[in-house]
Amino acid sequence: MIIYNCRKCKAPLDDNEAYEYRGAVACAEHFDEVIEMRDFERNEIIQDEHNKTKVFEGIDLTDSTIGKANKKLLKPNIEIASRESQRLKNYEGR
Ligand SMILES: [Zn+2]
Repeated sequence: MIIYNCRKCKAPLDDNEAYEYRGAVACAEHFDEVIEMRDFERNEIIQDEHNKTKVFEGIDLTDSTIGKANKKLLKPNIEIASRESQRLKNYEGR
C-alpha cells in the first residue's frame, strides 16, 4: 500500500520503502538530503525563537525590586516568548 511520498522527489513509497526523519519522509536515495533539509528548517525556526527572547538579554528579571518592575513592564513580551510558536508546533506535527 502506498502511504507516503518522498519529500524530495515525491516518489510514492510504501511502508517498507519509506524512511522517516523528524516527521519528514524520504526514499532511500534522498534520505540524506531530506535530513539536511529538515535540519535546516529546524535551525531556522530555533533562530526565530531565539530572536524573540533576545529582548530579555541583560535585563534583570530576578525577584529584586528592579527585576519585579522589569517583569511587570515586559509582561506582554514574556508571555509571547513563553508561548510555543505555532511554527515550531507545525514543524513537529503536533
Ligand atoms: Zn526521493
